[in-house]
Amino acid sequence: MNRIDDLLEANRAYAAGHDRSGTDDPRPRRRLAVVTCMDARIDVFAALGLHLGEAHVIRNAGGRVTEDVLRSLALSSTVLGVDTAVVMQHTRCGLAGVSEAELRARTGADLDFLPIDDHAAALRTDVAQLTGAPYLRGIERVAGLVYDVETGELEDVVRWERPA
Ligand SMILES: [Zn+2]
Repeated sequence: MNRIDDLLEANRAYAAGHDRSGTDDPRPRRRLAVVTCMDARIDVFAALGLHLGEAHVIRNAGGRVTEDVLRSLALSSTVLGVDTAVVMQHTRCGLAGVSEAELRARTGADLDFLPIDDHAAALRTDVAQLTGAPYLRGIERVAGLVYDVETGELEDVVRWERPA
């Protein structure tokens, strides 16, 4: 059996016990969106005490705010009622401590990889992108956090609230 078949087999067991309650409303119950890294060591729901149906989780390399994150949050915050955004980067990230040139050389891709020199600076930049986007007016508060993959602890780095 190959690795894709493993997934399909696991899904058969999952679907057999799947609870369809709460599937009618797509709006996240905590009105929350979390932007975080794709890193396999982060269990976003467990780390933040979240449950299915409570939050949007938008993941990419580094947990950086990109055009595609803005696209998703535009929908989250207008159509789907999200008013709180968390940007959660993490320790030992593959995008930290490397340069754009190194990442381009290693991948052969001429892309903007958004490497991270300093988490506090990267989070301030990313939070500023969210709070400055006119179409994200529905977002009332934003936090920029760093998750420690070794201890599981969060560092609270940046906070923003929309002025009244
Ligand atoms: Zn990462």
